Amino acid sequence: MTQPTPVLIAGPLLPSLQTAVDTHFAATHYWELADQQAWLQAHGASIKALVTSGVYGASAALLGQLPNLEAIFSFGVGYDAIAVDVARDRGIVVTNTPQVLDDCVADTAMGLILDTLRRFTEADRYVRAGKWPQARFPVAVKVGGKKLGIVGLGNIGQAIARRAAAFDMEILYHNRSPKAGVDYRYFADLDAMISACDVLVLAVPGGKATDRLIDGRRLALLGSKGFLINIARGSVVDQPALIQALQQGTIAGAGLDVFEAEPQVPESLLAMDNVVLLPHVGSGTQETRQAMGDLVWKNIEGWFYNGKRPLTPV
Ligand code: NAP
Repeated sequence: MTQPTPVLIAGPLLPSLQTAVDTHFAATHYWELADQQAWLQAHGASIKALVTSGVYGASAALLGQLPNLEAIFSFGVGYDAIAVDVARDRGIVVTNTPQVLDDCVADTAMGLILDTLRRFTEADRYVRAGKWPQARFPVAVKVGGKKLGIVGLGNIGQAIARRAAAFDMEILYHNRSPKAGVDYRYFADLDAMISACDVLVLAVPGGKATDRLIDGRRLALLGSKGFLINIARGSVVDQPALIQALQQGTIAGAGLDVFEAEPQVPESLLAMDNVVLLPHVGSGTQETRQAMGDLVWKNIEGWFYNGKRPLTPV
């Protein structure tokens, strides 16, 4: 009888996915190890696959201790926390979960647009605090007719554009190259798009190329009537500069699903009423998380049981 293949699981997974991995492989739960370094020294060379997520990632240091690793299966579409350069150099395949989460992440972006401009959660706090009988809640900002600038018109960016168009927003976008088959207005120059839009939505990957892409200077271009929505990665925004811009009225407000050092959210943001703060729930529905888990499993099956052919390699 052949021995089950040794795999390492970086952190707790969707229960059905974890059960499948535990059942079919000799799985080690990395987060449960009392001495991870000692374990890696003794057993790292036996590990053939790493099952991880966009949050747990796979650092170059960890990969260095898994010399016979063949594949990294990640739950999530963003792979900025995975040392993909190291993986590529060593011929390690990396898979992610594109497309299955587009609808829910785009819903989150649209929800943040509506909430931030119309001040719904602020109004909810107002009602709960018993303030309504004393005075009417102030009027907010209309969504329809506003120009939406999307940074990163990929799978999620396009799903955001479709939703926003249905709310009568005008769509502008910036990518490194224009997207074929769409008739939204393309800006090769990010500064020009930011200056032209009312609401700026970030939907680019994280990583070196987009690190602090939105800094204080660009927030000033967005202007005192402009709103920032970030469902991409906290690293894409210079967070201290954003806090300053919100405090000084350089921009009007922000809707944030992602932060610089999650799950830590600075007190200064918690104290502001013109921000809507979500705990990185972009893809967080039962249906989408299940679809992501199913896709991770299909990638694992493709690699181990179908001739090393994963479904969605990066
Ligand atoms: P995607 O289909 O690969 O789209 C990414 C888009 O960004 C592409 O259109 C790409 O166009 C553009 N882009 C990449 N690098 C750029 C740069 N340096 N400057 C300007 N544009 C750039 O990816 P996706 O599936 O839509 O996902 C996008 C990101 O959303 C993920 O990487 C992840 O970080 C984030 N996300 C967040 C959540 C959440 O829970 N909040 C959930 C899922 C995903 P060009 O190549 O032409 O530049």
